Amino acid sequence: MEEVAVTMSCESCGMEEECTGKYIGGVRACFGGRWLCGLCSEAVKYEAGKSSPRSVEEAVRAHMTFCRMLKRRGPAERVAEGMCQMLRRRASSSSTS
Ligand SMILES: [Zn+2]
Repeated sequence: MEEVAVTMSCESCGMEEECTGKYIGGVRACFGGRWLCGLCSEAVKYEAGKSSPRSVEEAVRAHMTFCRMLKRRGPAERVAEGMCQMLRRRASSSSTS
């Protein structure tokens, strides 16, 4: 089967990514029909997998709020930067415990 790449823009941070239909379907199934970019997916999965369990829906909403906050401060590149920082911080704090 031929895989056609489509450009999707993230419903949370607005970043654009080229993806195949199969991948898009998988992401949508994960996040209640929403399309999220790779970075946001990671962040949401992290949120949803924390020790105090949250539903994916809740984690998506929390993350979208976080992205909106970052977007008010600057362009999409800054959003990605902010998310990377957040993930790095969390990764380093969990490894020290
Ligand atoms: Zn995103």
